[in-house]
Amino acid sequence: MPRYLVTGGAGFVGSHLVLALLDRGAEVVVLDNLSQGHRAAVPSGATLVEADLADATRVAEVFAAWRFDAVLHFAALSLVGASMKDPLHYIAENVGHSLRLAEAAIKAGCLRFVLSSTAALFGEPERVPIDEECRIAPSNPYGDSKRMVEEGLAWAERIHGLRYAALRYFNAAGSDPAGRAGEDHDPETHLVPLAIDAALGRRPALTVFGDDYPTPDGTCIRDYVHVTDLAEAHLAALVRLETHGSCRYNIGSGTGASVKEVIAAVERVGGRQVPHSIGPRRAGDPAVLVAASDRLRAETGWAPRLGALDDIVRTAWAWREKHPRGYGDR
Ligand code: UDP
Repeated sequence: MPRYLVTGGAGFVGSHLVLALLDRGAEVVVLDNLSQGHRAAVPSGATLVEADLADATRVAEVFAAWRFDAVLHFAALSLVGASMKDPLHYIAENVGHSLRLAEAAIKAGCLRFVLSSTAALFGEPERVPIDEECRIAPSNPYGDSKRMVEEGLAWAERIHGLRYAALRYFNAAGSDPAGRAGEDHDPETHLVPLAIDAALGRRPALTVFGDDYPTPDGTCIRDYVHVTDLAEAHLAALVRLETHGSCRYNIGSGTGASVKEVIAAVERVGGRQVPHSIGPRRAGDPAVLVAASDRLRAETGWAPRLGALDDIVRTAWAWREKHPRGYGDR
């Protein structure tokens, strides 16, 4: 039975990946400090090691206790706004933790590494949809920290033979269709859960960050990809690593939706109005971010199964309606 180490497996995307691995019969060890993740998000079939990646001794102990077929690395600081306030902390933590983790994996003889990367690598993109050949030019420290990690992994590949997959997520949303996991951030900053909570009357009205962008309805366009499809993309990348070298993939559904279209989808699916008002633009928001995922599709056969916006909203709505306090552990 293959065995995987998943850092950040108590977080949103990580917990959905853990479910996908367990569903395939794999053994999973989650390493998470629970600073942002939730104990209850770790499925009972996985082993949780509550530890911080800064604790090199603990990390080495984990690699000594288990032999892993691959490491899937999700644990990171991931708020763009916070990274603009505290850039050096973001870079030091994301880069330091990731590369030390890769070093520990290599020392233990584990030469497969999947990195949770980001569309923020592309900053204000030179073209849309964004393919892997687009210029890498992050416009915030968060995106730049992931660029640095990707570059570090490339050196580890050349010198140590590490095979890595860098997966650049666009907007992960939705939740496990079987209702076993969902999205619960503190603070919540993401559009889909905020719009749903506004519709459910759990939050004040949603503020739309600008309606004067050069898009058909004036609001920003993003590529919302279902978190379960995203998890499947990791499995596809793992298979690919066994037969090919390292890879870098942009992952989205390939279609964009504006903020107003997301609000309309929430109203359609939930049958309730989303109270909202138009506010100023949010600093650093590009007008349009849509992924070209052709390379991932062509090289692995991956395709989104839950790509439609209504599927994303339906699953997210079901989980949030059932879990008014999220995982309820804060
Ligand atoms: N957004 C918004 N109001 C909010 C939160 C987000 O208008 O309260 C917009 C944001 O400007 C962006 C889109 O919704 O265009 C998606 O934002 P989110 O923070 O979910 O993801 P991001 O694209 O920043 O990764």
